[in-house]
Amino acid sequence: MGDVEGFLKYGRAELHGRPVEERLADYHEVYEPVDEQTVVQQGARCMDCGIPYCHVACPLGNYIPGFNDLVYEGDWENALTLLHRDNNFPEFTGHLCPALCEGACSLSLSFEPVTIKMIELQIIERGFADGRVRPQPPHTLTGKRVAIVGSGPAGLAAAQQLRRQGHEVEVFERADRIGGLLRYGIPEFKLEKKIIDRRLEQLVAEGIVFHTGVEVGKDVSADDLCRDFDAVLLAGGSRKPRDLVAEGRELSGIYFAMDFLTQQNQRCEGDVVPPDDAISAEGKRVIVIGGGDTGADCVGTSLRQGALQVTSFELLPQPPLKRAKDNPWPEWPRVFRTPSSHEEGGERIYSVQTKRLIGDERGRVVAIEAVKVNWQRDAQGRMRMEEVPDSNFTMPCDLVLLAMGFTGAERNGMIEQLGVDLTPGGTVATNTSKMTSRPGVFAAGDMSRGQSLIVWAIAEGREAAKRIGEYLAQA
Ligand SMILES: Cc1cc2nc3c(=O)[nH]c(=O)nc-3n(C[C@H](O)[C@H](O)[C@H](O)COP(=O)(O)OP(=O)(O)OC[C@H]3O[C@@H](n4cnc5c(N)ncnc54)[C@H](O)[C@@H]3O)c2cc1C
Ligand code: SF4
Repeated sequence: MGDVEGFLKYGRAELHGRPVEERLADYHEVYEPVDEQTVVQQGARCMDCGIPYCHVACPLGNYIPGFNDLVYEGDWENALTLLHRDNNFPEFTGHLCPALCEGACSLSLSFEPVTIKMIELQIIERGFADGRVRPQPPHTLTGKRVAIVGSGPAGLAAAQQLRRQGHEVEVFERADRIGGLLRYGIPEFKLEKKIIDRRLEQLVAEGIVFHTGVEVGKDVSADDLCRDFDAVLLAGGSRKPRDLVAEGRELSGIYFAMDFLTQQNQRCEGDVVPPDDAISAEGKRVIVIGGGDTGADCVGTSLRQGALQVTSFELLPQPPLKRAKDNPWPEWPRVFRTPSSHEEGGERIYSVQTKRLIGDERGRVVAIEAVKVNWQRDAQGRMRMEEVPDSNFTMPCDLVLLAMGFTGAERNGMIEQLGVDLTPGGTVATNTSKMTSRPGVFAAGDMSRGQSLIVWAIAEGREAAKRIGEYLAQA
């Protein structure tokens, strides 16, 4: 521990967003860069706890007090080595992780937690700037071949780990670009896509082969893949969107969030979306149904497109400002947060349920009828919802975006052809070795875990790579 009084000397420093008017005029990174002295001081706040709960809470098991201290000492090179030991892509988590580690940081019991995520991002950004992120191709090759389906964070992490074990690795991606939800789900203003491209250069230089525009189960049969490779990893995500069951769902002007977000990401890449297919919030009153990450991304994107008004509907109640009694440290704090997109505008309405979608004579959505709900615990302690009498209201709208989550893996095509077992929740079932019911076929990331986080996708990809390595060693 570098500075035993660091946490008494320095307060927690937050990242500062660019002025809202400025950032709404573009799709660039929301946050301003941080100076080195601030990061060093933030590293000094770490108490190097005997039991570092931050490290325990991190799905990757990042050794956080270690790199905090190295940053305090100014040893950026070893901080990067330590960070990369457990995380292939700290730039993705450094930008996008909710930072489960910070929720568990002991300092938060009496002070504010260490800014672990900011420190992580500065270590990797410095690493790239100083040319320290270099390809690490394998020294010896095993002659074994692994196919990976899907190029999201799970597929990419597995690919890098497996390649470094010396296997031939080929990644099959149905989209025209690599990255999964990092590329086409998450908006440019949260993760500029040049950050993915920069990392891809390393993966290609290490010898990973990427095939884009290839859907396994359609362009290549899943059985051919199993025949041609020694092991197959399914990392296709959890892409079946949860739909709204309500009268008027068939009206025009109602879209899944992913369709809307994908198009904007395509435009940011310089692609032209055919006008007949284009979904735009410009000049529209937008209602986003679903108040999670995806919903917030729809808000920020709608505001940048020039929406007249943006309202988010969330079925659950507004979280408390501080931890509730049933949510003690070191659990993840379920408290009210304001993501950058909500800082930029729009209104959030909690405890609200959509009753029906109202259309005009041309079949276009013009309003939503909704009702307020109350949440109470029943005798078994389960949360139960009931409508608040006479609380119905109607809100005009021209565009409705459905951001209500995902219900598991897409089942047609690849999954159907492989015939692998699914869990009751609709994800691909795996055993403790990440293997599916079909020998030699593994699954990782949202496809096996269900809709989750980037940090979990990377952790699952790494675990699957380890298990595939063990399987290939016995084959
Ligand atoms: C809008 C949105 C915002 C999010 N924001 C955050 C955030 O801020 N922080 C965070 O931690 N998490 C966030 N998440 C969650 C996070 O993005 C996912 O948990 C993560 O990307 C899952 O990674 P994955 O590799 O398992 O799958 P994905 O990223 O979904 O990638 C799967 C890939 O597989 C491809 N594929 C599927 N089937 C086939 C096939 N048959 N053949 C070929 N290719 C196929 C798909 O095209 C896709 O590219 C967000 C999710 C969404 C939808
Ligand atoms: S819990 Fe917080 S203070 Fe303790 S080691 Fe981790 S980051 Fe440092």
